[in-house]
Amino acid sequence: MPVTGPSGADMGAGDEQAQVIVVGAGPAGATAALYLARAGMDVLLLEKGTFPRDKVCGDGLTPRGVHQLVRMGVDIDAPGWTRTRGMRWMCEGRQAHIDWPRLGGQPDFGLTRSRHDFDDILVRHATGAGARLRMEVKATGPLTDRAGRITGVTAVAGADKEPRTYRAPVVIAADGASARTALAMGLERDPARQIATAARRYYLSTARTHDPYLELWADLRCSRTGRDLPGYGWIFPLGDGRVNVGLGSLPHRRHGAVDLRATMEHWLARLPKEWGLREENADSPLRSAALPMGFNRRPQYSRGLLLVGDCAGMISPWSGEGVVQAMEAGEVAAEAVALALLRPGGPGREEALRQYPREINRLWGRYYRLGNHAADLVLGRYGYRPILNRRVMASPVLVRSLARLLTQVADEPGHDAIDAVLHTLLRLVPAPTPALGRGRRTPKASRKPRPKP
Ligand SMILES: Cc1cc2nc3c(=O)[nH]c(=O)nc-3n(C[C@H](O)[C@H](O)[C@H](O)COP(=O)(O)OP(=O)(O)OC[C@H]3O[C@@H](n4cnc5c(N)ncnc54)[C@H](O)[C@@H]3O)c2cc1C
Repeated sequence: MPVTGPSGADMGAGDEQAQVIVVGAGPAGATAALYLARAGMDVLLLEKGTFPRDKVCGDGLTPRGVHQLVRMGVDIDAPGWTRTRGMRWMCEGRQAHIDWPRLGGQPDFGLTRSRHDFDDILVRHATGAGARLRMEVKATGPLTDRAGRITGVTAVAGADKEPRTYRAPVVIAADGASARTALAMGLERDPARQIATAARRYYLSTARTHDPYLELWADLRCSRTGRDLPGYGWIFPLGDGRVNVGLGSLPHRRHGAVDLRATMEHWLARLPKEWGLREENADSPLRSAALPMGFNRRPQYSRGLLLVGDCAGMISPWSGEGVVQAMEAGEVAAEAVALALLRPGGPGREEALRQYPREINRLWGRYYRLGNHAADLVLGRYGYRPILNRRVMASPVLVRSLARLLTQVADEPGHDAIDAVLHTLLRLVPAPTPALGRGRRTPKASRKPRPKP
């Protein structure tokens, strides 16, 4: 005899229900699950992999990321965290050191930590707060009701890929760049927005592993075309003998494809031998991944489904950073869901869930709109070299202002003159309207037949 859950649906062995399902336990999903659990919600966190696990990333966090970790209760004084004092920009033989600003509302240091550990730590905080984690569970598609509203997900669990269903009135998609859940609900990405790609590799480097600065190189040339890389290279210290070295590229349509591997080899060959960034010191293969950015998938809420992190293209078009954006959006999503679930299902709850894209738009709408223009007109065509020209690099005020614009490390309301200028600049950008649609096409959802009365 089938087991029947509280919603009246048939429950198979291993099937589960919750108030909220979060698909994907990267920074976006783990943060959302943590804040939901803290709000007393019954939350199921589904993850296709196991922890700890690797994730292709630069492993660098600005003070905004540190701020979010502190809010989440992560012990950043524990071993394994490496503090950074700021950024070092390298361009045409010139260098500029930019210390993280001393602001009232942000820490004055950044952090690095390999994503191998980082994601595991966040997930343990989420489960510590009460989230129910299910690893090796891969969501395969949404379950929907007759109105096309999501009511859970189908999944396969374990090595044997046992079919499962997980039900909840609200689902948060945090499944990264693949955006499988959003796509299956008909939420396509905006084809007008370019997707960046980035590659990274670990090297053993005693010379660079304790560098107090995140180092960024703006004058790299594409090996194939000889043109400026429409992106930048980085060397981030991990403090454990390794450095994370990589480069990212946002090629404009007219630029053509970039061979990241060859461009990186070309760049590393330029660097001093004593840094050790040579084949014999490589500590991992070179791996690359996509960076969906500039809010390239909207609406961020539709029919019971909230999109958080890379699956919503939340990577900053200014810098390629996405971890802090994923965590901050995870918190905003959790708050919207917790408030929505205080209301009975219907228009009132729907209105509360629509607050999520509104709030994201309020926080970042103008900044991303301006960033998308900057990416289209400058960064994706010519890279960072034009903005890090001799005059800018020679002016500490210009360099500091640009750094704050690129990383969005600022106080709100403004703390100093640089904050005031940046906030004024952003206020001049017309606010985009948050997309609050139903999605663009009918979902490819599996509808379970309702039991006959
Ligand atoms: C080379 C590179 C360097 C980068 N460097 C930086 C950096 O230095 N700093 C920074 O801030 N950002 C950086 N980024 C961006 C950053 O990695 C991402 O923005 C960030 O990981 C987004 O987090 P997320 O939780 O949205 O997605 P992810 O981290 O991708 O997490 C998604 C999770 O969902 C799981 N999942 C996927 N599909 C399913 C499914 N069907 N069912 C269940 N689980 C599923 C995945 O296994 C994964 O655990 C970099 C990106 C790249 C590619």
